[in-house]
Amino acid sequence: MDKNQLLNSKNIAVGSFAILFLIFLSLIIDNTPLFLLILFLLGGLAIYLVDKKNKKNTETIQKPTFEEELKNTYFPTTSKLKLADVAGLDGAKEELFEIKDFLNNPDKYKKFNARIPKGILFIGPPGVGKTMMAKALAGEAGVPFFYQSGSSFVEIYVGMGAKKVHELFEAAKKSAPSIVFIDEIDSVGKARGGIRSDERDATLNQLLTEMDGFESNSGVVVIAATNKIEMLDDALLRAGRFDRHIHLDLPSVNERKSILEIYLKNRPNSVDIEKLSLITAGFSGASLENFINEASLNAIKLNKQELDMQDFISVKDKVVFGKKQEIALSVEEKEKIALYQSSKAIVAKKLGVEFEKITLFLNNFLSTNNGLESEKHSLYKIAAQISGIVAYDFFYSQRYSNTKEDILIINELIKNHIENFNMEKNLSLQDAIEQAKDIALKTIKTSEQEIKELQKKLITQEIVFFNDI
Ligand code: ADP
Repeated sequence: MDKNQLLNSKNIAVGSFAILFLIFLSLIIDNTPLFLLILFLLGGLAIYLVDKKNKKNTETIQKPTFEEELKNTYFPTTSKLKLADVAGLDGAKEELFEIKDFLNNPDKYKKFNARIPKGILFIGPPGVGKTMMAKALAGEAGVPFFYQSGSSFVEIYVGMGAKKVHELFEAAKKSAPSIVFIDEIDSVGKARGGIRSDERDATLNQLLTEMDGFESNSGVVVIAATNKIEMLDDALLRAGRFDRHIHLDLPSVNERKSILEIYLKNRPNSVDIEKLSLITAGFSGASLENFINEASLNAIKLNKQELDMQDFISVKDKVVFGKKQEIALSVEEKEKIALYQSSKAIVAKKLGVEFEKITLFLNNFLSTNNGLESEKHSLYKIAAQISGIVAYDFFYSQRYSNTKEDILIINELIKNHIENFNMEKNLSLQDAIEQAKDIALKTIKTSEQEIKELQKKLITQEIVFFNDI
């Protein structure tokens, strides 16, 4: 029983006692008006008690109202992280320093009437530090940080997600300069069409309206994170919305080294960091941190004074095959994936399809084309993306599970291709796949040597730039 309830029961007891006393008094002195007054008071008390009981019943089942929930949701946090705390990812950091400067010195930009991007899209697999980077930017610039996950916007009732989006932007504008971070934007911003959801469409539309509705120099910078840019609704990527794209890839050997250095710094250890960085190809920053934690627990269990390589070897299987399911590649797996990726890169280069780099793990490697695109180029893009799968068939007569993400990308490319060029020719999905596969196979057959060379390079370097191919 809380304090209020206690007070109320006390009041009722005192009230009842007073009435009983008055009844007693009226009987003794035989006073009719007093008797009527008592009856009136008794009626009042009964009504009060019944009403209170009803209220209590409804109170117990009443949840906080939507408005109350909203009020609690949009409190920003302050971040102590700095960009220097994020290991590697130098290109991304450089771009963010410009945004930090804008948040701190908006007048400098206003004077030149310079527009700074309102919406930045972080693209990359889970655990590479997208959230960390956004927080570090807020910490570096010393501005409030609003975090929301895209899925938390999609409510059961149509219109509620939209309301949440609106409130979030209102709160951010009030605290400007500020940073809004929307994690997993794909749960709101998936391309419309397919299975329709009125609630998701309404939420997405609201997000677009909000993005259009504030000035680029209002001091609010919105960062959204996604793993699958190809799934996003085109409207989100248009100018003035999320038009600055920053790719955060899985860390390279050197980046893994610096991440390991950060997390080993404060733990007593005799670890060969160089060696550890070599055997962790495919690990994200988050999985490296987890790997070190598991190894530390192992060292503690064995009462060791310091963490050593043996601890990592002991927990490797746990990290690789355990519930965390991190990826660590065997030599054969690396060879296969490198051949798969090299085939895509060589075919793209031979067909004149532009890209910046190819890595062991980046499936979605082609540059997004926002300009005027020819039908031939659109088909060549599909051919390049499908050529890893064609190479598996050609070299190994076998497919492997890393094709999954490419299949999604290919489907998306084909959908656009058919929409843009082949509606009236009645080109089916299957026809487009066959055409692209033919082109890919012909190119692979005439480039076997180059593919094998790039495969070797990728195995050792994990990343090769377009100009070095
Ligand atoms: P994402 O948002 O891309 O899924 P997070 O930012 O949530 O990834 O990363 C999870 C954790 O992994 C971070 O809190 C940090 O401990 C670690 N981490 C990831 N990338 C890095 C990095 N580049 N440098 C240092 N730590 C990292």
